[in-house]
Amino acid sequence: VERTEIAIVGAGIIGLAHAYAFARRGRKVTVIERSPAANGASVRNFGMIWTIGQPPEMRPLAVESNRLWREILSAAGLWHEAAGCLHLAYSDDEWAVMQEFDETGREYGYRTELLSPEEVGAKAQGVRQDHLRGGLFSPEEVCVDPREVVARLPDFLSREYGVRFDFGRAATACETGCLAGFDWRLEADEIVVCSGDDYETLFPAQFAQAGLTRCRLQMLRARPANGSMRIGPMLCSGLTLLHYKNFQVCTTLSDLRERVERERPAYLRHGVHLLVSQHATGEITIGDSHHYGPIALPFNDVEVENLILAELARFLDWGSWELTQRWQGVYSVFPGGPFFEAEPLPGVRVLTGVGGAGMTLSMGLGERTATRIPAGV
Ligand SMILES: Cc1cc2nc3c(=O)[nH]c(=O)nc-3n(C[C@H](O)[C@H](O)[C@H](O)COP(=O)(O)OP(=O)(O)OC[C@H]3O[C@@H](n4cnc5c(N)ncnc54)[C@H](O)[C@@H]3O)c2cc1C
Repeated sequence: VERTEIAIVGAGIIGLAHAYAFARRGRKVTVIERSPAANGASVRNFGMIWTIGQPPEMRPLAVESNRLWREILSAAGLWHEAAGCLHLAYSDDEWAVMQEFDETGREYGYRTELLSPEEVGAKAQGVRQDHLRGGLFSPEEVCVDPREVVARLPDFLSREYGVRFDFGRAATACETGCLAGFDWRLEADEIVVCSGDDYETLFPAQFAQAGLTRCRLQMLRARPANGSMRIGPMLCSGLTLLHYKNFQVCTTLSDLRERVERERPAYLRHGVHLLVSQHATGEITIGDSHHYGPIALPFNDVEVENLILAELARFLDWGSWELTQRWQGVYSVFPGGPFFEAEPLPGVRVLTGVGGAGMTLSMGLGERTATRIPAGV
């Protein structure tokens, strides 16, 4: 029987962040991943470390996570761009929310700056100027390529900290001190289950009782004809103000919501808002939509894709470009809070349900768990 100190189930970003936090403390860590390479939510996202999107009560964790991300990305030599993010306003009600947030957000520690249309043009390439009222810039956000990060962090963690990765092993049984699969057993002092939206294999009763569900998102990748064009900051449009909880501190948000309900109900029905991130290759990731429920059907909807592309065309004007990929991502959602954490058995913790903020919060969550399980306990 093999032995380790800390066994982690899942090599998605939550599992990797936990491996980093424990290994840095000198703990012996083994990560068990059922696939030959993780290919869940963590490789399907924008790669946005989107600190601004977190509500005030989550901000300390998000800021700490952002710091740890920068540290591990630099140490591992992984491409990243501390590009910040830019919210674009094309109507008075969107602009009112951004102005209010710029002022009110300061009280909670957000560091934003209002930009005139000219200043937006100077900061970001390819943004439409017609009807542009202004922009809200935040300097904190970091862009990574999620595919690269999830593929390469295991090598870094093995090399630097001796973390052992067992890919192609599904954990089908878990009890205090022991994890097991079809033809293997692993003894461990502590077990952390970071199984994403797999609610069926380990602890199905706990997941069902907590009301965990799923969200399905449609995504696109595109390549600009001008391969050397860099947008600059990550971009989002006014619909995004309705999506992220940080903007709920704004009293002006209700006017915007009422207008969007009246004029653009399809966007709300499909939960479509627009985010754009650009990676080292120059390719751009575009999304997304939000469909909630226990089953994430695999059928991508053309109507939804058209809504996404129409909204994109309202603010991005980068000449000719080519759509290169379409995919869908599924993430785990906990209706009861920002993430789901439980200790179903002594020495066994479960952490999932981080929703659309798993990249942003992962490193902070790993750190949080590791400080709660000190060596020798
Ligand atoms: C389209 C999309 C866009 C997003 N954009 C962003 C963004 O830009 N910024 C942001 O902060 N967040 C974003 N998110 C959210 C973020 O991607 C997720 O919150 C995060 O990736 C969840 O990580 P995870 O490790 O919990 O899950 P996963 O990445 O799904 O990993 C779970 C892993 O556990 C493994 N596993 C499960 N059960 C077992 C078992 N029994 N034995 C062995 N292995 C097992 C699975 O194979 C899987 O690899 C986005 C999500 C999606 C889908």
